[in-house]
Amino acid sequence: MVRSVVGFGFPLMVDANCRWRTDEAIRAARALQPFDLIWLEEPTVPDDVEGYARIAIEGGLPLAAGENLHTVSEFDRMIREGGIAFPEPDVANLGGVTPWMQVAKIAHACHLPATSHGVHDLHVHLLAAVPNASYLEVHGFGLERFLVEPLRFENGDAIAPSRAGHGVELRDELLAGYRRG
Ligand SMILES: [Mg+2]
Repeated sequence: MVRSVVGFGFPLMVDANCRWRTDEAIRAARALQPFDLIWLEEPTVPDDVEGYARIAIEGGLPLAAGENLHTVSEFDRMIREGGIAFPEPDVANLGGVTPWMQVAKIAHACHLPATSHGVHDLHVHLLAAVPNASYLEVHGFGLERFLVEPLRFENGDAIAPSRAGHGVELRDELLAGYRRG
């Protein structure tokens, strides 16, 4: 349905949010093959490495995963044994910038791209700093209204700001009503 609206050639991904058992995920991946997806994301529970390996091989679609992994060693195993094609480290779930960069480096060593999950105002800097960047996931939660300078895009590319540090400055006047105490 979505493919028929956006046409072939437009990058399209499907996120199952850990929904399926291995056999269901393999069936779903096979059914999705005609729609030319960039990736199928989290087809099954986050830590089932053997399941991911089976889904990757038997389902025949590139898999993305990692937003629910919390250590570099979990990523290392998922990349090397789980057969994922798009590691998705989340700087907020993984423990910060250093482990995020370590995961991106492992991906690079395995000839894989790095992508991201959430927190796009931070990930735009990290992806800009690695040689194997692919897509920046951008959430549509409407939180940009709380930022002095929300993320900018030019022709579909996110622009990493040149402000100091992560450059995220909150609009305090809008946050006053949400503070406790
Ligand atoms: Mg996801």
